[in-house]
Parts: sequence; C-alpha cells; structure tokens
Amino acid sequence: MAGSGKFFVGGNWKCNGTKDSVSKLVSELNAATLEPDVDVVVAPPFIYIDQVKNSLTDRIELSAQNVWVGKGGAYTGEISAEQLVDIGCKWVILGHSERRNIGENDDFIGKKAAYALSQNVKVIACIGELLEEREAGKTFDVCFRQMKAYADNITNWTDVVIAYEPVWAIGTGKVASPEQAQEVHAAIRDWLKTNVSPDVASSIRIIYGGSVNAGNCADLAKKEDIDGFLVGGASLKGPDFATIINSVT
Ligand code: PGA
Repeated sequence: MAGSGKFFVGGNWKCNGTKDSVSKLVSELNAATLEPDVDVVVAPPFIYIDQVKNSLTDRIELSAQNVWVGKGGAYTGEISAEQLVDIGCKWVILGHSERRNIGENDDFIGKKAAYALSQNVKVIACIGELLEEREAGKTFDVCFRQMKAYADNITNWTDVVIAYEPVWAIGTGKVASPEQAQEVHAAIRDWLKTNVSPDVASSIRIIYGGSVNAGNCADLAKKEDIDGFLVGGASLKGPDFATIINSVT
C-alpha cells in the first residue's frame, strides 16, 4: 500500500444478476466479517442499485458502472450523476475496457469523470492496455495516454481511485503477476508525480483489476504500489469477495 487512506476493494457486477441472485449476494455480504481498514464498494447493474441500497449493510458503498457525461435531460437510455446522488450512489466506474471497447474514447471518459466529480460522485478511473499493445512494448504509452485524458479534465483528484486493468487479464483467468502489476502501478504513480503533482502521486490509490480471485489476491496485495482491487467475476460470490477484501492483512 503506497497511497494514503484505506486499502480499496470494488466489486464490479457487470451485466449479471436477477432480483433473486442479487438478494442472495447481498445476504452473503451482510453476513461476512470484513476487515475494518478497507473501503468496500460494489457496482450492481443500474436496475438493481436501489434494491441493493435498501438491503446491503452501510459498511459497503455503492457504485454505478457508467454515467452520462453531463446534466440529465433528453438522453434516452442514460443515467445522470445527479440521479446517482439522488439514490445515494456515491461512486461510478469510468473508462472500463468493456465500455472503451464499444466506442467510448479517452476524451469522452475524461469529460465524464470531470462531470461526475463536479456533482460529488467519486470516480474509479480505469486504464489498461490490450494484449497486442503489451506485446508491442506499448503498455506505458497506452496507460499514460489514458491517464493524460483524465488529467486534462480532472482538477481535484481527492475523490478519484485509479484502476489499472490490463485488458488481457479481464475475465480471462490470466491474472497479471504481482511484479507486472507493481511495475505499471509504480509507473503510473511516477507519471502523476511529473504530470499532476507529487501530492496526488503519493496520496492516490491505484488498484489492480483483472482475474483477481480469492487465491491470488494475497500475493498481489503485498506489493508496495497495489492499493486495492477492482474485482469482476469473483465479486459475484460473497465469500470469495470477502476473502479478497480481507487480503490486506
Ligand atoms: P474480472 O473483471 O475480475 O472478472 O477479470 C475485472 C473487471 O472487469 O473489473
């Protein structure tokens, strides 16, 4: 842990679940014993956020998986930051590769981050390279380009957590090694020091995502610059997610 504040673990439920399975997962999370020194956030699909909010322990905060880029209005199918605030949803995941993949570009994501922050919605800002980019030696170039789009739009980083998620590790079972993750996290911190400020670089939390599970989390959590996790598949199983949260000890 290098950033200040608590270890941070987010669960990204993606487009999974039914009313019944969500209710079961909430019961598992409510029953779990969680390390107090960890910030925990879960991101259900929009349609279940209110159900989760009304049944989940206050110990765990809520995140959306996306948000509109500005104030609400005539934008069919969108959800605004103001609406997230209205239902008590404090976070949003932005820049996830599954959204970049369907057309969201760096600048649009940067603008979404700025608008969400302006409405006091905290941001989990994702970045990460494709397999071919890693193989071409472009990991840092890609991550720094994505970071620059956030930095061009964000003025106050207090409510931002950065999630490094190599795309080749997401949902593939192919986790980055602790050394691979540490190398990129340290490079991002260094980039922030030069391009944003030494204060932001030393205080921001940089979390890792991509095939994190109950078995591999402890080794990753030991690395200096890994300040938490963003978890997809394993966050759908309450006991496994609790193990990941408690891996900080
Ligand atoms: P995964 O997803 O844990 O299923 O690889 C991580 C993510 O997409 O945030």
